[in-house]
Parts: sequence; C-alpha cells; structure tokens
Amino acid sequence: MLQVTALERRYGDFVAVKDVNFTINHGEIVGLLGHNGAGKTTIMKMLSGYLEPCHGSVTIDDTDLQNNLKKIQKNLGYLPENLPIYPEMTVIDYLDYAADLKGIEGHKKHIEIRRVVVETDISEKLTAQISTLSRGYKQRVGVAQAILGNPKLLIMDEPTNGLDPSQTQHMRELIRAVSNHATVILSTHIMQEVEALCDRVLIINDGHLIVDKKMSELKSSNVIALKTDMPL
Ligand code: ATP
Repeated sequence: MLQVTALERRYGDFVAVKDVNFTINHGEIVGLLGHNGAGKTTIMKMLSGYLEPCHGSVTIDDTDLQNNLKKIQKNLGYLPENLPIYPEMTVIDYLDYAADLKGIEGHKKHIEIRRVVVETDISEKLTAQISTLSRGYKQRVGVAQAILGNPKLLIMDEPTNGLDPSQTQHMRELIRAVSNHATVILSTHIMQEVEALCDRVLIINDGHLIVDKKMSELKSSNVIALKTDMPL
C-alpha cells in the first residue's frame, strides 16, 4: 500500500533523513521508533505530503504522492505531532472545517462527522472550545479529523506524546479500533508502545533506517538490547 524509496531530507546542510526505504502492506500497524531528533517527524511529514523530500519518493497504492498531492491527501488520515487546532473553535466547528478540507460535503459530511465523533468518543464536548480541552481529549479530536472520510491509510505522529497513563491507554485502544479499518503507521520513542500496538517496527537512528522487522521476528534478546542500548 505504501512504498518509500531512497527518501532524503535536508535542512540546509543538515541531513535529517537519509536513504530511507520501506514498504507497508495493507492492514498492518507499523511503528516508527526513534529517539528525539532521529527524524521521525520529518519522515511522517514526507509520508503525508506536507514536506517535500529532497530526494526519493513516496508511493501510495501505486500512485506517486508528490505528483498527486491534493488527490492523495484527501484520502489519507494524518495526525501531526502538533495539531494545528484553532483554540477558539468549538470541536464541532473544527470537524466541520476539517471535513470541508477533505472535500466531504452535504449529507455525507453530517454522517461522517457523526461516525468519527462516536468512534473517538468525543460527543460530550462537541460545543466546547478546543482551548478548554485536556491534551488527551485534543488528541482524540485530532484522531477524529484524521479518520474523516474513512481513509485507508493513517499516519500518526507520536499519538500518545504528552498523555498521562490513562489517556495513553485510551489512545492505544482507539488506535487498535481504527486499525480495524485502516493501515496505520505511527511514530513513537517508546518501545513498549510498539510492542503493545504494532505488527512491525522500523527503527530510525540519526536519519537512517537501521531495523525493519516484524515484531514476531524481534527476539526478546534484541528487544532487551534495544531497550538498554538505545536512548529511546
Ligand atoms: P522528536 O521526537 O523530538 O519530534 P523526531 O525524531 O521527530 O524528533 P525530527 O523532528 O524529524 O525528529 O528532526 C530530525 C532532525 O532534523 C533534528 O535534528 C531536528 O533538529 C532537525 N530539524 C527538524 N526540523 C527542522 C527544521 N525545520 N530546520 C532545521 N532542522 C530541523
């Protein structure tokens, strides 16, 4: 479903992501694991089309992302690390706006908004201003906007970052639920998150992909080594 080939991104002279290659198959939940500054957000932004690679390509369902940006972006779900949520907006107005951006209109818009509100369990705060919500609740609103239009691919950048244990648990359950109808790639710096949620792990270190393995192939000794050797 997703093919990443020789992906590279520089910021000035600094190489943030270098020669990254991987594929993601339909139905997988894949974890992109790396320490702070490893290059996760840079990769996630390139996968969702919000940052142009300096080199290489991202192909989704055999279609080149950069050459078909608007069309593909309408059909993928993206939860950025820092959601550009408008603090003065109410939750319902924000979802209405997000649906417009995805080109979901008329009766279908109402049905879709209702569906994502139920799935993310945010119905009790629809008329609340976003600025008044907890971080956990804001993240659920973020997931709600991401799954508008029922995208087949969901890209989630550090979905549990900054959440307390209970909010983290709630978010993980939500990710499991949405993964029943979408392929998911999520980034995290927490190995346990990958272990709890993912079928496969991609480990990124200083902009290089150093591990691409199914969780079942990661022997427990490797996992322990990763936990202790890497500053994740
Ligand atoms: P974090 O977990 O802290 O978000 P990350 O793994 O997502 O880290 P990135 O945000 O992709 O990492 O950053 C990778 C590297 O690129 C870091 O060294 C970062 O300082 C650098 N970087 C990111 N964005 C920019 C930018 N706009 N200009 C210059 N350097 C940048």
